[in-house]
Amino acid sequence: MKDGRIHRDQSDPANDRLGPAHRQSALSRLSTEEVDVLVVGGGITGIGCALDAVTRGLTVAVVEQRDLASGTSSRSSKLIHGGLRYLEQFKFGLVKEALTERGLLLSQLAPHLVRPVNFLYPLTRFWERLYVGLGIGLYDLMAGRNGNSLPRHKHLSRKEVRRRAPALAPHLYRGAVVYSDASVDDARYVVSAARTAAGLGALVLTSTKVTGIVHTENRVSGAQVECLETGKKFEILCGTVVNATGVWSGDIEAYAGEHGKSVRASKGIHLLIPRNRIELETGLILRTNESVLFVIPWDHHWIVGTTDTDWDLDRAHPAASQKDIGYLLSTLNEVLNTPLHYSDIVGVYAGLRPLLTGESEKTSKLSREHAVSVPAPGLVSISGGKYTTYRVMAADTINAVGIDQNLDLPASGTASVPLIGAVGYHKVRSEAKKLSQVTGLSLKVIDHLISRHGDRVGEILDLISVDPELGEPLASDHPYLRAEVIHAVRSEAALHLEDVLTRRTRLSVETRDRGTESAREVAELMAPELGWSGATVDHEVDHYLRRVASERESNNELDDQAADATRLGARDVRKGMS
Ligand SMILES: Cc1cc2nc3c(=O)[nH]c(=O)nc-3n(C[C@H](O)[C@H](O)[C@H](O)COP(=O)(O)OP(=O)(O)OC[C@H]3O[C@@H](n4cnc5c(N)ncnc54)[C@H](O)[C@@H]3O)c2cc1C
Repeated sequence: MKDGRIHRDQSDPANDRLGPAHRQSALSRLSTEEVDVLVVGGGITGIGCALDAVTRGLTVAVVEQRDLASGTSSRSSKLIHGGLRYLEQFKFGLVKEALTERGLLLSQLAPHLVRPVNFLYPLTRFWERLYVGLGIGLYDLMAGRNGNSLPRHKHLSRKEVRRRAPALAPHLYRGAVVYSDASVDDARYVVSAARTAAGLGALVLTSTKVTGIVHTENRVSGAQVECLETGKKFEILCGTVVNATGVWSGDIEAYAGEHGKSVRASKGIHLLIPRNRIELETGLILRTNESVLFVIPWDHHWIVGTTDTDWDLDRAHPAASQKDIGYLLSTLNEVLNTPLHYSDIVGVYAGLRPLLTGESEKTSKLSREHAVSVPAPGLVSISGGKYTTYRVMAADTINAVGIDQNLDLPASGTASVPLIGAVGYHKVRSEAKKLSQVTGLSLKVIDHLISRHGDRVGEILDLISVDPELGEPLASDHPYLRAEVIHAVRSEAALHLEDVLTRRTRLSVETRDRGTESAREVAELMAPELGWSGATVDHEVDHYLRRVASERESNNELDDQAADATRLGARDVRKGMS
């Protein structure tokens, strides 16, 4: 350390373990040392900015008030896509940019996390074969050949559709087009990107809320923060504050004395339905009056989504009402042979799109493009955008940081920085059978671990080799292992039970009990890692059970206001948060 400024330390591979030791060190260093960039927000945008900045030689810290990806970045449709419907809006540049990113993520940056997925687009009118075929042909063409390993689209006859999509009522279509896109576990991707940034020297501090902005001589020079685990309040000083808080952007700008409202929230909900309840070989995309509806393959489930409605209620815990759920079920049922019922729903989640404010358009027609602004010297805000293009958004943001500090920064280099787990992924995948024989774990379990941890699968296997009981699953019929709970705390910044049940695993939406049956076991595994007493274990479990109960009740409320009030019946587990 020189001149009170943090210097990057690339020499220590243990840096990418986001466990209690990293947190403790970040807390104490940031109380006294200054960084070049302080990123506020631990969603994909903020973590993308941290990774971009650290790879350009800047010192960086990220603060996140709750958990990594606890905002929108764990609640998306999970598609890494160009967005077919933007073609209809003639936004060719946006589509091309996103498809280029899709290719990069699939082939180089995160092949272990981003997976190809096929979608069937049913054709209902005779002229659609030409119109849709041309559009999807253009989509394929825009993806280019470089790094794009996905197959080109195919036309299907009515007979072929009947074979590949028996769930669809045959009188409703004349044929279909099948095309390829990609999907990702959005929360897992954020955690992996955060570890990658930390491995290069970024400090990542969750459960730390920005409560005010520090000014020095008419310039933003840092932020007041509060650690929500200890109650400690302190200032973090920096060259530039990057505001990457999604639907909370206006709050940070208001702390800095700026009151422009650049972002509005639009709610989208999703349902998880068991795979065997909808007989399809591929995913499905349907046109609706307002937008599109996706049925996306997700391990043993389909994710069905989404809705698009204005939301100005609680931003941390958006609630899905009966009206939202009814809309998705009835829209999908219009095309199914055998209708779905409420009892088919395993999980429900809701998220908020941070949309750039537009005039009076309805939200689904608003642009998803991003905007970088400098509301005050020393403060750079990044708003809007979409998950797929986070890297481009981050590069634009850090370019603005360079201008703000008058630095001669190198160009963004993240196109050649694979996430942890990526580099040796194909090799470890080819050795899956051998790993299964050596460890005694089933091939299914090994496949599950590799698809979540890539070439870092050894981090989990090491834990199991010390304590074989950690190789047991947390819930029957689900592949998550007890070892993954320990790993989530030691290496993935999990601090609370809900962090593990909702984001490190997806038991909160992938099981009918919504993770409640595993709650105590998970809390007891976390306890010795985090120094929890018996009373803390009880508190964590009790909070989680209440959270699930309030979510279930909110799903029965007729409208947003009632659903929001019911959802807020369970308070936040992090102290000081509403
Ligand atoms: C329903 C839905 C479906 C979507 N589907 C797709 C899709 O399929 N593909 C795609 O590419 N995109 C999709 N998107 C868009 C994409 O998910 C978002 O653009 C992206 O996740 C936004 O990330 P973010 O980091 O900007 O915001 P967030 O993930 O919300 O992160 C902001 C973070 O800032 C933190 N924060 C706020 N205030 C403070 C403070 N004072 N101090 C510290 N931290 C703070 C919050 O806790 C939060 O974690 C979808 C969005 C929705 C809602």
